[in-house]
Amino acid sequence: MPKVTSVDIAPLDPRRFEEVLTPDQFSAFAAAIDAAKTMFEGRVVWNVNSTARGGGVAEMLRSLIARARGAGVDARWVVIEGEPEFFRITKRIHNNLHGAAGDGGDLGDAERALYEAALKDNLPELLHLVSPDDVVILHDPQTAGLVGQVAPTGATVVWRCHVGIDLPDDLSRRAWRWLIPYVTDADAFVFSRQDFAWEGLPENKIEVIPPSIDAFSPKNQDIDESSVRAILAATGLATGDTSHATYERTDGSEGRVERTSDLFGTDAPPDDAKLVVQVSRWDALKDPIGVIEGFADHAAEMEGVHLVIAGPAVDAVSDDPEGAEMLQRSLDAWKGLSPSARASIHLATLPMDDGDENAAIVNALQRRADIVVQKSLAEGFGLTVAEAMWKGRPVVASRIGGIQDQIVDGETGVLIDDPRDKDEFGRALARLLKDPEDAARMGRDAQRRVRDHFLGPQHLMRYVDLLGRLLASG
Ligand code: UDP
Repeated sequence: MPKVTSVDIAPLDPRRFEEVLTPDQFSAFAAAIDAAKTMFEGRVVWNVNSTARGGGVAEMLRSLIARARGAGVDARWVVIEGEPEFFRITKRIHNNLHGAAGDGGDLGDAERALYEAALKDNLPELLHLVSPDDVVILHDPQTAGLVGQVAPTGATVVWRCHVGIDLPDDLSRRAWRWLIPYVTDADAFVFSRQDFAWEGLPENKIEVIPPSIDAFSPKNQDIDESSVRAILAATGLATGDTSHATYERTDGSEGRVERTSDLFGTDAPPDDAKLVVQVSRWDALKDPIGVIEGFADHAAEMEGVHLVIAGPAVDAVSDDPEGAEMLQRSLDAWKGLSPSARASIHLATLPMDDGDENAAIVNALQRRADIVVQKSLAEGFGLTVAEAMWKGRPVVASRIGGIQDQIVDGETGVLIDDPRDKDEFGRALARLLKDPEDAARMGRDAQRRVRDHFLGPQHLMRYVDLLGRLLASG
């Protein structure tokens, strides 16, 4: 069985962004496309990570690679494999990098042996693919151990870390110390924000590139109200007509939402409900229980207000072994509420069989929301925040990680100072629910902020700039 799997990505025309950028923004992007064509002639830009679906990194790679290919760059994506034990260790590292203990396990020599053995199994095929003129972008801790193995090919090697913590603590430092020996040979280290850059890495090799979303993907494309309603009805998160449950697939063809989502113990929210929505993986760092309890204590009493907390079907995301447990714990928290609170809180798992369909459901849910929340305890960036903002939704979210770069408090959303304070969260939510005009104003400004900073073109331009410098310096 091959260890390394290629993810086929069809090219998409990057010039489509002319539809949403200002003329100045678009002409800067068009110039970068021209530069990239020359710069990457005869080279492959490899992206390597450990999952083709689920989570923000896979989401971003899919659209950035498609647009890069559409610009004439031979960008490709390969996914490494590992046994559950490998993912248990990398999940522990991921948690530690966020300052969370995760499963509380060690990071020592035994873990090194397992981690290195898993990567070694992937190596022959990867090395077979890479040529000296290529660029290899290795993503996240799962691939860190490949840096030193790939560098001797002569290819330009970038290690990108999508996770981080605002104020380093013992756990995050422990994870850095464990990882640093693996990544030192990289030509550059990319972090999502300056605060995430690790102590102990050479500063001249550190780059900051914020993440981005694709305005035209099934997740973010503009769909009208009737499609929003129909998509939600088709998947069982609303009632009513399903005939317009359609969207544009990544390949441009028409898709139709057909698979149902699972609701646990409730009906779909009423079609006239005011809706609060959080979409995220079932992960303690997304604090679904805090969302449920904060909503129950401060918003559930309000007439006609409902919460949908949605995440992927739990068996679907192979590198996330803690999902099922977190969903169960969220359900237990929900069961502990009063019957009336329970009736206005809906936990949903979304079908993951078809990535475009899943994205269309997320899109519809975010557009249907009156307010989107992201009460994370730690967050590298928080793509869900940009996704909601792009849809003109007001977002209530924790003042942490990259969320702070997206939301200007009171202008493009609302920031909660203490991410663990479910009362502060609940009160902010209730306030905004009572002031739809202010909510609408924030939504409008939020959309502009995403256009100016967090769409694919800005992201690709930063890559062109960085890789241009690295290639020029040999
Ligand atoms: N997501 C999804 N389906 C789900 C749950 C999440 O498509 O059921 C997407 C979500 O829309 C976002 C990504 O997964 O694009 C999560 O990225 P984020 O940066 O918010 O968090 P991460 O999962 O990377 O920690």
